[in-house]
Amino acid sequence: MHPQRFVITAPFESRLEEDLMPEVRAGELLCRPLRLGLCGTDRLIYAGAMPAAPFPRVPGHEVVAEVIEDRSERALRPGTRIVADPYKNCGVCHACLNGRPNCCRSNQTLGVQRDGIIRDFFTLDASRAHVLPDDVDVRRFVLAEPLTLALHVLQRAGDVKGRWCLVAGVGNVGSLVQRVLQRAGARVIAWSLSDSTLAKARALGAEHCVKATDLDADAQVMEITGGEGVSVAVECAGKSAAVEACLRLAAFAGKVILHGHSKETSAIKGSDIVFKELDILGSRNSHGCFPLAIDWLSRDVESWNALISHKFSWNQIQDAFELTKGLAGSYSKIVVDFPD
Ligand SMILES: [Zn+2]
Ligand SMILES: [Zn+2]
Repeated sequence: MHPQRFVITAPFESRLEEDLMPEVRAGELLCRPLRLGLCGTDRLIYAGAMPAAPFPRVPGHEVVAEVIEDRSERALRPGTRIVADPYKNCGVCHACLNGRPNCCRSNQTLGVQRDGIIRDFFTLDASRAHVLPDDVDVRRFVLAEPLTLALHVLQRAGDVKGRWCLVAGVGNVGSLVQRVLQRAGARVIAWSLSDSTLAKARALGAEHCVKATDLDADAQVMEITGGEGVSVAVECAGKSAAVEACLRLAAFAGKVILHGHSKETSAIKGSDIVFKELDILGSRNSHGCFPLAIDWLSRDVESWNALISHKFSWNQIQDAFELTKGLAGSYSKIVVDFPD
């Protein structure tokens, strides 16, 4: 049978089509996926709402895979299981030359700016492969890439031990940020519009949960923090209201980290930033976080697996994408398993 690939051809339209066996160049691996994860990026691409990913596009950037052939000097043996770092930076722009390739201005993420891994076989620059422990259950490491994003937020936040941190938006992205901050010793206040999301955040260990629509929501945060506000406020909702809440609720000399991709314009008064001398930081992709993510995922297997809400098989790939049309909150992590 010929290899196949999954292609999105127009908003909410896709097909499985015959694929060519990829040519493996020097320095590359030939891989086959074992499990892939879908996230908000895939949802936006499917909806045609991601200008960086024009159609037709083979999506897919979160993957556990098996090496079939290694044409690099790493000499990984066939059968080695890996997770892929899906980014590719240019090496010559300002960000790259300043040690921050994760925000390269010409970054090419698999499945976004270039075709991704939802196909029977794909190639990967060998330097972008992270070898997994010899474990019978490597499929849970599909969470590695999204976890690196949360670990990068922590890198941007710095030392949070014992400090109040607000996570505005505790859905799929925010709940990973919440976990990472808590593991680093932060005291987390979850902030959301949704009661059910806040209930999940509480179950995950948030010390306080504040409903963003409460008239006294700001006052609740100020009271929790002894009138100071939070040391670090992380925006994970991708909404201007959440950006503005983070700016209001950050303490003097606090940090605001923007992780959600809000496309809306926020009302920001420059003098408020000056008066509180806020550090406002973006957090995009990740840099150097895969080894730590793999280490964390090696432990607490059950709690990580609990993040996966839906499993599909490769021949149900179109159903998996259809599910992303559902309401946020009706699913968390969707994974797709390829045959062993
Ligand atoms: Zn993703
Ligand atoms: Zn660059």
